[in-house]
Amino acid sequence: MEEKQRIVIIGGVAAGMSAAARARRLSEDAEIIVLEQGPYVSFANCGLPYFVGKEIAAVDDLLLQTPASLSASLNLDVRVNHEVIAIDPKAQTVTVRTPSGAEVLTYSQLVLTPGGKAFIPDTPGIDLPHVHTLRTVDDARHIRHQMETQSGDTQAAAVLGAGFIGIEAAEALARQGWKVTLVELSNHVLPPLDQEMASLVDAQLKRLGITVRTGAYAKEIFPDRIELDDGTLVAASLVIASIGVHPDTDLFADAGLECERGAIMVDEHGRTNLPNVWASGDAISQQVYLPGPSPYPRRPVALAGPANRAGRLIADDIVGLAPARPLPAALGTAIVRVGELTCATTGANRATLVANDIPFHTIHLHPNQHAGYFPGATPIHLVIHFGTDGTLLGAQAIGQAGVDKRIDVLATAMRGGLLVTDLIDLDLAYSPPYGMAKDPINLAGMIAENVLEGTLRLWYPAQVDQARQDGCLIDVRSEAEFARGHIDGALNIPHLEIRGRLDEITTLAKGGPVYLSCLSGMRSYLAQRVLSQAGLDAYSLSGGWLTYTAWFGGDENECH
Ligand code: FAD
Repeated sequence: MEEKQRIVIIGGVAAGMSAAARARRLSEDAEIIVLEQGPYVSFANCGLPYFVGKEIAAVDDLLLQTPASLSASLNLDVRVNHEVIAIDPKAQTVTVRTPSGAEVLTYSQLVLTPGGKAFIPDTPGIDLPHVHTLRTVDDARHIRHQMETQSGDTQAAAVLGAGFIGIEAAEALARQGWKVTLVELSNHVLPPLDQEMASLVDAQLKRLGITVRTGAYAKEIFPDRIELDDGTLVAASLVIASIGVHPDTDLFADAGLECERGAIMVDEHGRTNLPNVWASGDAISQQVYLPGPSPYPRRPVALAGPANRAGRLIADDIVGLAPARPLPAALGTAIVRVGELTCATTGANRATLVANDIPFHTIHLHPNQHAGYFPGATPIHLVIHFGTDGTLLGAQAIGQAGVDKRIDVLATAMRGGLLVTDLIDLDLAYSPPYGMAKDPINLAGMIAENVLEGTLRLWYPAQVDQARQDGCLIDVRSEAEFARGHIDGALNIPHLEIRGRLDEITTLAKGGPVYLSCLSGMRSYLAQRVLSQAGLDAYSLSGGWLTYTAWFGGDENECH
């Protein structure tokens, strides 16, 4: 009689439970054992910041399953408080530390989904009891306990790291009335974003009452304050260290598992270099979508969606759904709420494209999320990077509404291999409360097409010094708008006057380039078309004054 297949899974949350549940749905015969070192399985770690912020009232709301419920519904053998401490790939065994001593288990197939662990810096004071990480249910409980037991006048906190989780944690504390300082080593918050988008988040954090310190780090932590690298003292009786995660794979090094900077190397089916050993989730090095001359780069992508999907695919391969689909390169699509704003990204940012020598165009636009005449219209700030052949490379969006829809459409377009010009033809749902007849996505496609055709010629805020030196700057907004704030050195010629003042502009240009700007890039585009067709070397500022002020992190009503 054929021996029963035993699938052992290390880690019982996103990737691990997806693999276990899918394997069971495909095979009633396999023995499926999930080993989880912590006390909970299948918990919603993404909800932890909202539990800290009391939007999720009870910790039980985050505990989606128990070993008993998983046994009853899927006949899974889920063992909590079971930590795998060694694997022997030759003998096909794992050694497990259990509440009743060590145990050795054989496997026919082993799935490694240990996730990541919080990066803990060696900052003096990091071991103090008021310093927390935010990765587990117990972490969140400890933070909330401290928040609930500490009196009002000492309620000051520092969050170290302004990535997605750091921002969520800072907002959670601020919502409870805590005085929060958010400290970020990079020169802007949310490092995956481009500078001009991150500065919108920065402004929103300040509106929430959060003090933001970028380009800074904690040099020392004391019981009631932290000292920053420049000597500044920041009051903080509660500290959350959220400066990144790294794969939790130390244990596997002795087993000969191939890793790169701690991340498990897998093929496009999640197979490791060891026979019958698979891996997925935060612990693996994933291919990241980046079309260009080189193969896709690899790095860990700590996001729940890819982890869940990869776990499912591994189960398909193990249980023999032939042929299982290969794992696609990760887009890194991510979204976060920051006060009234939603902020989302997919694909590559500018820094990544530059670092990888990929030629690209960038467009900025600020359309409303739905028809302007319908109450509640608010802008979506969109940036899209695309290759010189129109390949979509990356996008970011920030706004009060409609951001999730647009970034998901862009992520879908990228996954489907659509060109940026294909966005023009997407047939998206529209009625006034939901969108526009020309949706922001269609509009982005049209603007990009103009760029690729050369009918829209863009210039960017980073070029402003050069523009002042070798050309003439013309702001085509109204006099009143110009008076409220403009680029230093710009002249004001409202766009309706451009045709009538062509001779004057030609004289001003002295045969050199004309750098046009307006509020969002629309009127300067119209002006640029007039000037270009009159034979002038004219350019329109990408995203206009809105992008310009965000780029320099300033106020819209100042001169720059
Ligand atoms: P995990 O879900 O971390 O599970 C790994 C499990 O393995 C852990 O429970 C661990 O205890 C166990 N384990 C490790 N080693 C062993 C061992 N030796 N023996 C037994 N068990 C072991 N992603 C998003 O896409 N959107 C979000 O909004 C989002 N918010 C987040 C908020 C927070 C606070 C956190 C912490 C993460 C968030 N993430 C978010 C990331 C997302 O949760 C992870 O990408 C995802 O959980 C990774 O899945 P995984 O299965 O690889 O690892």
